[in-house]
Amino acid sequence: MSKKRRQEDEDTKNEKKIANHWSMGLLSSMKEPELLVKEDDKVVTIKDKYPKAQYHFLVLPKENISSLAKITKDDIELLKHMDKVGQELAESHPNSNFKLGYHAEASMSRLHLHVISDDFNSTCLKTRKHWNTFTTDFFVPSVKLISEVEKQGKVIPMTKEEVKEFMDMPLKCHKCSFLAKNMPTLKSHILVHLKKLL
Ligand code: AMP
Ligand code: ZN
Repeated sequence: MSKKRRQEDEDTKNEKKIANHWSMGLLSSMKEPELLVKEDDKVVTIKDKYPKAQYHFLVLPKENISSLAKITKDDIELLKHMDKVGQELAESHPNSNFKLGYHAEASMSRLHLHVISDDFNSTCLKTRKHWNTFTTDFFVPSVKLISEVEKQGKVIPMTKEEVKEFMDMPLKCHKCSFLAKNMPTLKSHILVHLKKLL
């Protein structure tokens, strides 16, 4: 095999490796009919595969924007459209309150807006990190992010230290002042708020 051909094979292998990496999972999920909720010319809405609440959706742009770090002023209309799609979806479940927002530092590729009901009652929500990514200021509300981009033309990334601080925060209930000593205690406590809804 020629040197050039060998290099091409190596490049193809590396591209496949990147495409198959777990952090690229949303890209294939966008094409999975079982996960698809809604689609238009600009965005695809899917069910989160590991929902952290009763309802948990992700709104993703069709345009290849990998993360918040790539957002510019030119994307404001897209961000507003994603917000509108998320709001409409939330309104279609009138018995739940929803949070719409972005993780300050996402783990998965392709920009995605979380549209999540605020019960957080799910077997997939297991760890302190899961809890703190949705209930602290690590979760950036969609409207706040849009106004940040309008003012600054970009999203200022969170520092590693700030991320760590949010992840390590105490397990505080998002509906009252209850502080849980561990996840099982927190998970049984939040059921109190669910019962109040009934
Ligand atoms: P983050 O990147 O931290 O904003 O969150 C990624 C979200 O994607 C999480 O809520 C995961 O449960 C969800 N997730 C992870 N893998 C997949 C997948 N293959 N398909 C759909 N959702 C996924
Ligand atoms: Zn509480």
